[in-house]
Amino acid sequence: MTKYKLEYIWLDGYTPVPNLRGKTQIKEFESFPTLEQLPLWGFDGSSTMQAEGRSSDCVLKPVAVYPDPARTNGALVMCEVMMPDGVTPHSTNARATILDDEGAWFGFEQEYFFYKDGRPLGFPEHGYPAPQGPYYTGVGYSNVGDVAREIVEEHLDLCLAAGINHEGINAEVAKGQWEFQIFGKGSKKAADEVWMARYLLLRLTEKYGVDIEFHCKPLGDTDWNGSGMHCNFSTEYMRTVGGKEYFEALMAQFDKNLDAHIAVYGPDNHMRLTGKHETAPWNKFSYGVADRGASIRVPHSFIKNDYKGYLEDRRPNSQGDPYQIASQVLKTISEVPTEKAAAAA
Ligand code: ADP
Ligand code: MN
Ligand code: MN
Ligand code: MN
Repeated sequence: MTKYKLEYIWLDGYTPVPNLRGKTQIKEFESFPTLEQLPLWGFDGSSTMQAEGRSSDCVLKPVAVYPDPARTNGALVMCEVMMPDGVTPHSTNARATILDDEGAWFGFEQEYFFYKDGRPLGFPEHGYPAPQGPYYTGVGYSNVGDVAREIVEEHLDLCLAAGINHEGINAEVAKGQWEFQIFGKGSKKAADEVWMARYLLLRLTEKYGVDIEFHCKPLGDTDWNGSGMHCNFSTEYMRTVGGKEYFEALMAQFDKNLDAHIAVYGPDNHMRLTGKHETAPWNKFSYGVADRGASIRVPHSFIKNDYKGYLEDRRPNSQGDPYQIASQVLKTISEVPTEKAAAAA
């Protein structure tokens, strides 16, 4: 038997953006534990904005497990928060009720800023560095500094070793701003991995004395870009049948559901989706081929392939909850009849 360090990780009850929380318990297993072998556990909900009524106990239900590359015999255990009965989802547990479909694929592009001493890493103590331009995908000390690349490389290795489907990295438009991409089949799988990648980044940067700023417009109304979390999505139908008519019906439904999408695309998005800085205004839906100024960008490959493939919703922001973003995308898609559904009716 081996003693495993199990880090139970969950989302707390803070609004509008939950924080990641985690605590460790040691348990013995013959080999790396499966999800089924992991017991329920509890925590004090009165310390995380999750206490309800007189009882402050909340239950942690493991829903995904990954090897923890930073610890000997470690496991990262993604949990849902349940009521004391262990079966009723807590009101802060968004994951329990989202739409899912393993034929629906999601690619999230998580942007964020490194922060130190209350400002983006690499910003001088007073004023601003040279205007943005050279930083996006840049190389060299004056563009990326001396530590950011070490962090993003280490984060990449941690994610890959944990089995997270990390797909890439790039330095972003603002100084101190970076992006990583996570791809997953199914909303729960993709979103679990985004949250776990966020956790690994936050934990990793502790030792560098660097914070992660996920706010979508930390530098406010300036000439500095904000942070998004573009959501690339495709369903099996979009990839294999698609077609111009279906695409246009889908876009009409996204337009109709504008408010429902914006509601879950992250707080303060009006600060970011202003129409400046390669984003469409939050209150007007638009789409366009290869158009990075539209709400939804239609890749060239989609048109070339007879309106089949994936689309990119550019509106979700860096603080958005990927569970709710993916679920709302699926909800809108589910409201558009497919040929199969039409034929069956
Ligand atoms: P860009 O910066 O040009 O918008 P990225 O390369 O950063 O694009 O991100 C593209 C994302 O699209 C990746 O996360 C990738 O996994 C995802 N993606 C590619 N094909 C599909 C697909 N068929 N369905 C869903 N997502 C996809
Ligand atoms: Mn990208
Ligand atoms: Mn980007
Ligand atoms: Mn993108």
